[in-house]
Amino acid sequence: MTPLLTLHAELDRDGTFSLEAWRHPRILFARETCSVQYLSTRAPDHRVSLSTALQEGLAPDGGLYVPERFPDLGPEAFDGCTTIEAVAERLLRPFVGDDSLTDDLPAICEATYGFPVPLREIGRDTSVLELFHGPTAAFKDVGARFLADSLARLNEEADQPLTILVATSGDTGAAVAAAFWKKPNVEVVVLYPKGKVSDRQEKQLTGWSDNVQTVAVRGVFDDCQALVKEAFQDDTWQEHLRLSSANSINIGRLLPQMTYYAHASLQHWRTHGTRPNVIVPSGNLGNGLACLYARECGLPIGEVVLATNENRPVTHLLETGEYEAFESRETLATAMDVGDPSNMERLLHHWPTATALRDTITAERVTDEQIEEQIRRGSGAWDTVWDPHTATAVEARERLDPDDAQEWTLVATAHPAKFPEVVEPLVGRDIDVPEPLAEVMAQAHPVPEIEPDLDALDEIVQWNR
Ligand SMILES: *Cc1c(COP(=O)(O)O)cnc(C)c1O
Repeated sequence: MTPLLTLHAELDRDGTFSLEAWRHPRILFARETCSVQYLSTRAPDHRVSLSTALQEGLAPDGGLYVPERFPDLGPEAFDGCTTIEAVAERLLRPFVGDDSLTDDLPAICEATYGFPVPLREIGRDTSVLELFHGPTAAFKDVGARFLADSLARLNEEADQPLTILVATSGDTGAAVAAAFWKKPNVEVVVLYPKGKVSDRQEKQLTGWSDNVQTVAVRGVFDDCQALVKEAFQDDTWQEHLRLSSANSINIGRLLPQMTYYAHASLQHWRTHGTRPNVIVPSGNLGNGLACLYARECGLPIGEVVLATNENRPVTHLLETGEYEAFESRETLATAMDVGDPSNMERLLHHWPTATALRDTITAERVTDEQIEEQIRRGSGAWDTVWDPHTATAVEARERLDPDDAQEWTLVATAHPAKFPEVVEPLVGRDIDVPEPLAEVMAQAHPVPEIEPDLDALDEIVQWNR
């Protein structure tokens, strides 16, 4: 049982047992909850610890790891937790359980944040949860930083560094590079398609050094992804390197995303005594799922609306009750251009029937014209400049009955300065780049360019060491 194990850990560290240990809030908390384990969506009998799930990424049977159950953590469980780091530690404690990361959890939560996550009221019963104050100005910083810090700690004592391979169409690669930069005993190789990302995205991908090597691939995103897959299946690579991935299906990116929903909903609950409804701009469904997970744990969250761009897998599923994958379609909200969301398998694992799904979420599909219109009117209507992703949530908010007397939180997933080509012409002025992002872009430098070929990549990884 967790309480005993936690107590042992305390004994090991202190050398002696004292009654103090029983008054330690962590121990009291551990006594109230048990340790969560992770099972594969495809083999519910295969249970693993958090460390295993983080390091494997994908389960051996090709399924995705999901928590076997959700701890019961109502608002009162967070009494005394005022900072987002403290809320994160309290919420994630049972999800870490007696895993080897248990003693490191406070430090991991500190390393995950270290930047503000403001909930800003903007009138008309609406607030904005700003998730773009991290190093690469998008919400993916949170998950990437938690995963990077956890993996670095798990590999501190390994003889050989861990090599993380990431293929990126833009934003994920920058968040992962930033998160792993200068972490000990971890090397990162980021592959992006040359000429297929925006200037500003390229600067965010090539501003790294030391243990992060960016490579421009003469091809498209699918070529980059195929190279990563090939490396993982290649015997020589497997023999000489300890390979891992940091892609968005890793449960280590999803779990920490619950923490900003916890923090924001508690803040709202403590101020207003009500549960905010939340609108989440969604593509691969990692962010939306994190919101649902937080609500399952007992956090005071009301309705959850997924705002999508013109890609239709989610709205089609809710309308027909049948899941169908689509070809992905290019829109202005590029990070949400997903026709077959990788987290759909998790969503359908937890809520397998049409009725269960419709009781859990609703969805609003938003066209490019509507995205443009919301960005154009943002300054006047909400005194805010929206990025194209967040604009889908704003459109969903505008469609709601203005007299419903409900309170809504819009999730702002990126800073508008990340998408100047779209935003600046619509608002008619330049958007200042936030300081952390400007610092990264100022360090941009030429990177090696290769054909989409494993031997070419091999040479780079070789002279990298
Ligand atoms: C990745 C991303 C999304 C979509 O999030 P999912 O977790 O894939 O649903 C939305 N907005 C921005 C800015 C993103 O980078």
